[in-house]
Amino acid sequence: MKARDGMYIDGAWRPAAGRDVIEVVNPADEEIIDRVPAGSAEDVDRAVRAARAALPAWSATPPAERAARLAALRDVLAARKDEIAATITAELGSPLPFSQAVHLGAPIAVAGSYAELAATHAFEEKVGNSTVHHEPIGVVGAITPWNYPLHQIVAKVAPALAAGCTVVLKPAEDTPLTAQAFAEAVHEAGVPAGVFNLVTGLGPVAGQALAEHPDVDLVSFTGSTAVGSRIAATAGAAVKKVALELGGKSANVVLPSADLAKAVNVGVANVMSNSGQTCSAWTRMLVHSSQYAAAVELAVAAAAKYGERIGPLVNARQRDRVRGYIEKGVAEGARLVAGGVEPPRERGYFVSPTVFADVTPEMTIAQEEIFGPVLSILRYEDEADALRIANGTVYGLAGAVWAGDEAEAVAFARRMETGQVDINGGRFNPLAPFGGYKQSGVGRELGVHGLAEYLQTKSLQF
Ligand code: NAD
Repeated sequence: MKARDGMYIDGAWRPAAGRDVIEVVNPADEEIIDRVPAGSAEDVDRAVRAARAALPAWSATPPAERAARLAALRDVLAARKDEIAATITAELGSPLPFSQAVHLGAPIAVAGSYAELAATHAFEEKVGNSTVHHEPIGVVGAITPWNYPLHQIVAKVAPALAAGCTVVLKPAEDTPLTAQAFAEAVHEAGVPAGVFNLVTGLGPVAGQALAEHPDVDLVSFTGSTAVGSRIAATAGAAVKKVALELGGKSANVVLPSADLAKAVNVGVANVMSNSGQTCSAWTRMLVHSSQYAAAVELAVAAAAKYGERIGPLVNARQRDRVRGYIEKGVAEGARLVAGGVEPPRERGYFVSPTVFADVTPEMTIAQEEIFGPVLSILRYEDEADALRIANGTVYGLAGAVWAGDEAEAVAFARRMETGQVDINGGRFNPLAPFGGYKQSGVGRELGVHGLAEYLQTKSLQF
């Protein structure tokens, strides 16, 4: 796809206010593939004004018609699947089959789920002698990261549109071409002018202008905890709602009764998938001491297999950050059993699938989000110990439990301080709420819970 030289505002591509550009780099070979405009506060302001102007008509559009636009959007994304997957591969570096199956598969499912929810949701209900009306919250500022560039956008824009909100999107600077492809899809789906607007640009410039804009009613942000906490502070001062999807350090708890080989193999694949750039990745594997040596051996073999199909990290900064964590792991006494800081290829921001054994809960690599293909394997002595370790970080986004008996796994999962747990592997469900306990965030995405983020309630008493 060729980059658009403009911002998608009020239904058309319009020249940016300034002349700054962002260079888009292919992380697999470090070549510049294109340029997009870097928006300013002025571009953001224009986009917010367009979204505000479109709000009355869109919020009054019958839910069935909003549903029809979302169904059309799903169909356009499906029709353009290969083209957008190639764009994601070019700017994120993920292998093409992964881009097609996951980077496109998930958002197509999510867009479809919101087409259905918009058509069937009870936007009005009766409670005793009242009617309760679920009304759109207004103009949404959506700020998204690069790790699942299309999914992160659709997980915000689809429920916002289903709810009757209008949107200004500021996507990650590393993956703006995917966002432009999404804007084209929205246009082709017949979404009215001004309902969805796109401003590409840098976080501290365009992102901050959007987060601070007085005419934005809700900021929905996915990214780092540091930026999320600043956005929440700004919104708090203005008494505004925020939705935050932040980091994670999820535990993969392998109980002694589990199928060890399956748990370890799926666990390693989960961490290495998308080069470890997944906020919900199971980056801490917890194994009973009696099975620890066997699990490490299985993990080393699984990581070696994964090495042939791993993509690069998104940019040099992330690669260097991940290498820094690997060095820290070694310095703090963890045992490096696979991978390491040595670059596996000459060009591109690649890091080998890396596994650490003998990791203890207080080590940096067991506490901080690395956002790279790095697995820490920790040992536990009994279930209480496993639970204490699993819950012993500031995060609580996701997790996994493996056991011979599903009920045993569920009993453990119920005691985990985290927003989503996969039982014996689990399967993606676009209707299941996704979001964090503790510092992993505020609010939920996907399904009816994700829709509720974009609604506010009014009650009428009779
Ligand atoms: P980031 O938080 O800096 O960027 C996320 C989005 O926020 C981008 O669109 C960015 O342009 C924007 N942004 C940056 N500064 C801003 C500001 N001051 N005001 C408003 N918006 C701003 O994340 P990153 O630098 O891309 O990645 C850093 C770390 O964040 C990663 O290593 C990882 O730990 C975490 N991360 C988490 C997720 C997730 O899904 N939870 C996704 C990506 C990154």
